[in-house]
Order: sequence, then structure tokens, then C-alpha cells
Amino acid sequence: MIPTQRPMDGFGSGEFGAPRAYGKHNGVDIVGLPGSPIVSLCAGKLTKIGYPYDPKDPVKGFLRYIQVTRLDGLRFRYFYASTRLEVGRRIEIGQVIGSLQNVSHAYDARMLPHLHFEVIDTEGEYLDPNQFF
Ligand SMILES: [Zn+2]
Repeated sequence: MIPTQRPMDGFGSGEFGAPRAYGKHNGVDIVGLPGSPIVSLCAGKLTKIGYPYDPKDPVKGFLRYIQVTRLDGLRFRYFYASTRLEVGRRIEIGQVIGSLQNVSHAYDARMLPHLHFEVIDTEGEYLDPNQFF
């Protein structure tokens, strides 16, 4: 599968390493319809359901990310995902782990809804996620 990356818009491009105000984009953005199923690209364990923004934020607080840790310790993070799974659960490769939230609501219509996907190694470094598709 070749994912469709979010093209350049008022918020920058969705490619890995694209410049951002805070530095550089540490993942890839894959365009997708809100509600689309998200499948795990690795086997491992669900180790975190996190908040990319302050959960009390009235606009962005509803957004979540799912972290699946592979057996070798690599952390795969899927942003803007709702899930019914619980932390600690074993995950199989290809398993549906959640569904895509609409991040566009948190910005504006200029930003396409997308999955932000990032991979972090055991040293805390962000890897180019394209090698894992
Ligand atoms: Zn992103």
C-alpha cells in the first residue's frame, strides 16, 4: 500500500522532516476519512492512549493517540484515533486498533483529515515511518 500523504497546506506538508515552527515534523500524515479503521503495522502491546493536546482544551481536547510498543521496544504512535481497546492489551499485526478522528475540526477546513503516524526508537529518536509500510 502506498499511503497518500497530506499535501502542502497552510500548516506545512505532511512528510517526515518537513519544517514546522517548533522544528520539524516527526512523523508522516496520511490522508483519510474520519471514522476509517486504523490497523496496527506491528505486533506488540498497547502501551498508551495519550492526549496530543491538553484534554481540557475545548477545541483539541477530544483528540487521542494510540501507542503500540513492538517486542523490540519500537513505539508506533497513531494520532487522532479513538479506540475501545485498553492499555496492556496484546496487539496483532493488521489488527484494527481504532478509528480516525477528525483533526480538521481542531484546525480549519484548510487541513485535510489525516492520521499522523510516528515511530520512536528506544533512544527516543524519531525514525522515518515510511520504512514500516
Ligand atoms: Zn503530522
